[in-house]
Order: sequence, then C-alpha cells, then structure tokens
Amino acid sequence: MTSPLSPAAFDLTGTLSRRAQSMTASAIREILKVTQQPDVISFAGGLPAPELFPLDEVRAASQRVLDVYGPAALQYSTTEGHPPLREWIGAQAGIPARNVQIVTGSQQGLDLLGKVLIDEGDVVLVEAPTYLGALQSFQPYLPRYVQVPTDDGGIDVDALEEVLKTTRAKLLYAVPNFQNPTGRTLSAERRRRLVELTAQHGVLLIEDDPYGQLRFTGAAAPSLYSLGLELHGDADRNHVIYSSSFSKTLVPGLRDAWVQAAAPIIAKLIQAKQGADLHTPTFNQMIIAELVDSVLPRQIERVRQAYGERARLMLDRIHADFPAGVQSTTPEGGMFLWLTLPEGVDTQALLPRAVERKVAYVPGSPFFALGGGENTMRLSYSNATPEQITRGVRALGDTLRDALAG
Ligand code: PMP
Repeated sequence: MTSPLSPAAFDLTGTLSRRAQSMTASAIREILKVTQQPDVISFAGGLPAPELFPLDEVRAASQRVLDVYGPAALQYSTTEGHPPLREWIGAQAGIPARNVQIVTGSQQGLDLLGKVLIDEGDVVLVEAPTYLGALQSFQPYLPRYVQVPTDDGGIDVDALEEVLKTTRAKLLYAVPNFQNPTGRTLSAERRRRLVELTAQHGVLLIEDDPYGQLRFTGAAAPSLYSLGLELHGDADRNHVIYSSSFSKTLVPGLRDAWVQAAAPIIAKLIQAKQGADLHTPTFNQMIIAELVDSVLPRQIERVRQAYGERARLMLDRIHADFPAGVQSTTPEGGMFLWLTLPEGVDTQALLPRAVERKVAYVPGSPFFALGGGENTMRLSYSNATPEQITRGVRALGDTLRDALAG
C-alpha cells in the first residue's frame, strides 16, 4: 500500500526555479572531460602555467600574514574587502578605495553584477564571440542577448551604433584586452568611441580585464574605465564598470579579484555579496596584499615572457604545419588564439578525430550567445611546453588536412 505522501510522488525536477532551469552545463567543461586523457596534448583548457606560480613567495607571505595578523587572519572580515588591498587597487586606478569591491574570483564579480543589474528580458549586448563564463553568469538573470559583430580590432563600433539605434540595451559586456576566446584586442581608436556611444545611449559598459597586464608585444591602450573617468570626471558617475583579477597574474586558486564601479553599484554589490558568501576569504586577501608590491611586478614579467614565447612558437608552427585556408588571430598578450576554418568545417564534429591524434581544442560555437562559429576553435598556449606545442600543432594540422580533403 502506498501512502499519499509517497516520496516517489514528489517531482523534484519540477521544483527547480525557472532561473535554475535556464542554467546549462558549461559546454567547455563537458568537452574537457573528453580531452583529459593523460596522453592527449590539450590546448583546450584556459589554465595559467602552474610551473610559474610563485610557490615560495606565497609560502613566505602566508607565514608573515599569520605572524603579523594572528587570529584576525582567520576571522570573518568586511564584505567590501581587506582595506590595504582595496587601497592598493584604488591607488593603481587613481580612484578612492571605496569604489573597489573585492570579489571571490572575477567570476563571482560577473555573477553579482548580473544579480544587481539584469532584470528578466533586459538586453545584454555581447561580443560575438564572447567569454562563455560571462554568459553562464548572466543567464540565470534571464537577459535577452544581442550579439555585436567583432573583427581583428575588437568590437565593430559602427555595427554597435546601428544596433543602438533600434535596441534599448541595459549593458554591454566586453573583454577588450586579449579576449577570451579570440586573443583579440580592442583598438585604441575604437575605445573612446565605444565609451562615448554607450554613455550617450545610457548603456552600462562592463569591462572584463583579467589579461590586460599580460601584454607581450605592442603598446597598451587606455582602459575603457579610465576613458569613462575622463569623460565623467568622477568615479561615482562613471558608467564603465571594471573587473580584474589576480588569477592570471599571481595564482587562480586564492580566488581574489575585484570590481571598480560607481558608489550606487558598489553599494548593491556589497549587499548581493553578503547574501552570496559574506566576504572573500580574509587570509587569501591578506596574502595577496603582501605580494602586490614585492612579487607581483616581477611575476607579471615572468608570465609575459613565457606566454609570449609560447604564443610565438604556436603561431610559427601553425604557419608551417597548417593547410591553406585556416586563419589565426595574432594575440599581443593573454593566453588564447582563435582559428577560423573554411566554411562548412564543423569543429565540434572534428574534435574526436583530433583526440584520436592526441590533441584537443575547444570548438568555437559555445562562445556565441546566439549560435554560429561552427568553423572556429580556441587554442590556449599558456599551459603547454614547447615540445607539446610543436607536436600538438602538427597533429592538429594533420587532422585539419584530413578534414579539408573531405
Ligand atoms: N573573465 C574572463 C574573460 C576570463 O577568461 C576568466 C577566467 N577564465 C574570468 C573572467 C574568471 O576569472 P577568475 O574568476 O579566476 O578571476
């Protein structure tokens, strides 16, 4: 006899919120599972090079933090973040510390920004392609995505102007330096226009910049945030929100990052973060604060140098080993490059054939909010040895040659 309260009658899936139902597994994480066989050379993950992590310096800083702060290093602390760290970040950006919110990875910053800014149906403008993790963070807040075309100079600002004539958008999300996934950089000329256009149309601009410090060639362009400051003359009126992280310059595992924004937005981020995790781990923030002056500058130099060498080698090998008709971006920094194959080649379908040849990449189409890019792929060079790059690119070249031969 079954009771009317039989557990079998309880529809657990049906209890999920619309928000939860809108979430999907990261296409990349699913793909990475396939590629994580030990003998496969993976250009798929976007991992920093672990052999460059400043292990001894982090060990020494941890000890110093415990010696100097004692139990306070292990106590709850303020939601806004460790004051010396906020001060340091504010000083770098030329803004007051109160315009800086420490977050647990910039991924949390994106989630909190989605929470405080996006109402269901709000139009969110994104680059095509864009950072998949941002789409994942914003998706539960049920935006309507509109894609803005990009080329080798980043966002096509003429196309954006056309979009803004007919679309009332809430915000634009962009990765202007060495973008994930393409490795492209927004040109200096377009930056000012992008900041002015969004300001004129009342569109918030989120500048996600975890890679900006990792330039290995060419000249740096001003941040969108600094151009916004110039335009408005005051950090509390800036419509540009800036996000960056210590993940790519120091270590990702401490999960320390920050958001710079005007006071009304920071105030809401604090409230949203209280509901999420109260604060970013006290101890981790103190360790990072110990490292920013003494270790960070030379660490950035080391990482730049290593990624520059790896990128150059990968590009050389691509030019030598790939069949005609494959185009690559030429990154000036960061961890990624982007390949475009002739129309009709499906990189998702091709992946098992590449894995058979012991090389892996990420197919490009998950990076498009509204689909497309079936003939594209992302390669990461940051976490591969020269030997792996040489062998992996050759294997990928063979895979592509087979595919193009039909
Ligand atoms: N934004 C972009 C563009 C990224 O590539 C990443 C890392 N893959 C993040 C944000 C998240 O970085 P973190 O949470 O480690 O700071």
